[in-house]
Amino acid sequence: MKRTIKQPRFGGGIVCDNAKTQPSGKIDANGIFTKFWAWGYPANRNWFLIITLFYVPKKQTPLIFGIRKKGSSKIDTIKTLDIKNDNLDNAHIINLQIGYVFESEGDYELICTLKDYKTKLIVPFNIRTREWPSFSNNEIKILEKNKAHLPFKVSAQLKCKNCEQHYAFEEKILPNESYSVGTVPFPEDGIFECESCGNIMKLKDIQGQIRTSIKDTLINFLNPSKDV
Ligand SMILES: [Zn+2]
Repeated sequence: MKRTIKQPRFGGGIVCDNAKTQPSGKIDANGIFTKFWAWGYPANRNWFLIITLFYVPKKQTPLIFGIRKKGSSKIDTIKTLDIKNDNLDNAHIINLQIGYVFESEGDYELICTLKDYKTKLIVPFNIRTREWPSFSNNEIKILEKNKAHLPFKVSAQLKCKNCEQHYAFEEKILPNESYSVGTVPFPEDGIFECESCGNIMKLKDIQGQIRTSIKDTLINFLNPSKDV
């Protein structure tokens, strides 16, 4: 009788905000999602990918992770990981932190492949542009009154990726406030040219994220019982 060797195959995969491998090998996953919000592009995101994989080959084999916009033939390889079968029941869970800079909104796919084997796993997720958060006159009044309890400035500490020059960007939501000492106002169009090296920094996404978190904090403050 012919002995058949089981071929490697992927089980499933999810994406989430945070995942921690327990000593037992099980994984605690937090904030499983199907969609990222972005306020501008490029949008830099970091997250976790959890996949299951069965019948891994005995010899060391590269596991390749790529990302592509749905419908595009171009796959960006974001990580490779050498794996081999070193576990008796040969069922693996892989917990991986990944990051990617998205240049536009759309439907994306994370593609996992095992070199020299046919098996393939696709984990889909979407990038959607979120409306720019604005504050009504009434909301501004409430912020003004509750400055001791609520954030009222958009602040971000960022480094130029080219020359490492450090910047503290700020946007004041309350018109009567002044900018904090040593800060640079967020440019209106979100595009900042590094003063040292001329590198272009695109700030819309980070500014929108922080602005939204201030708005969310205000909404929670106004509706403390609405715990959703
Ligand atoms: Zn620079």
